[in-house]
Amino acid sequence: MLTSGGFEPGSTPPPVEDAVFIVARARMVRDQIVARGLTDPRVLSVMGRVPRQEFVPKNQRYASYEDGPLPIGHGQTISQPYIVAFMTAALDPQPKDRVLEIGTGSGYQAAVISELVAAVYSIEIVEPLARRAEADLKRLGYDKVKVRAGDGYRGWPEAAPFDAIIVTCAPEKVPKALVDQLKVGGRMIVPVGPQHGVQELYLLRKLEGGLQTQAVLPVRFVPMVMAH
Ligand code: SAH
Repeated sequence: MLTSGGFEPGSTPPPVEDAVFIVARARMVRDQIVARGLTDPRVLSVMGRVPRQEFVPKNQRYASYEDGPLPIGHGQTISQPYIVAFMTAALDPQPKDRVLEIGTGSGYQAAVISELVAAVYSIEIVEPLARRAEADLKRLGYDKVKVRAGDGYRGWPEAAPFDAIIVTCAPEKVPKALVDQLKVGGRMIVPVGPQHGVQELYLLRKLEGGLQTQAVLPVRFVPMVMAH
């Protein structure tokens, strides 16, 4: 049977969240993430906690635990929950890590990762999205996330080097600045490919002698805007 996360049957549910979302989130974890074979307990736990409905437009709240991306305005989307979980697990986040994200969007992916690491630096090129995500993250108490409006192609040199980098928009090639801003031993997860068509999600590991690359999943992300 589904329980709604930690309170006794008959007792009063936590006041801040409608129980319908608690149930929908538990189902999402079970039917979309566990069912596809992802077992990392840290990732399952955080996906079971972060309130995705708070990161989507009001008229999408009741769709927020469906198995797909959703529009967030400005022609952009919040990624499918499974993809968020998959990318988070692939990064193998560690408690002391400082992580760079390119493509803040709604802020949801940044919130998820921030629960598992020391700090997240996230860059969004659409200024109103950056401001809205920053406000939502603050309102919800995700204070380990710093948001900047700007072109993520160049990374965030003042805060580099990073233990891990997650890119949630697709460049045609991995930007060199991002590889340069990764620590030796660091991991990067990035969708790479043509603007229209299938991209491949790559997991890169920076080694003393170069980059180890592994294609892990075919995906479809919005293109990385080339503003520079
Ligand atoms: N991680 C997001 C999903 C982001 S969708 C979430 O959890 O909701 C991809 C985002 O990348 C879009 O908001 C888009 O505006 C942004 N983007 C595209 N090109 C960019 C660039 N060059 N620098 C920073 N952000 C970019």
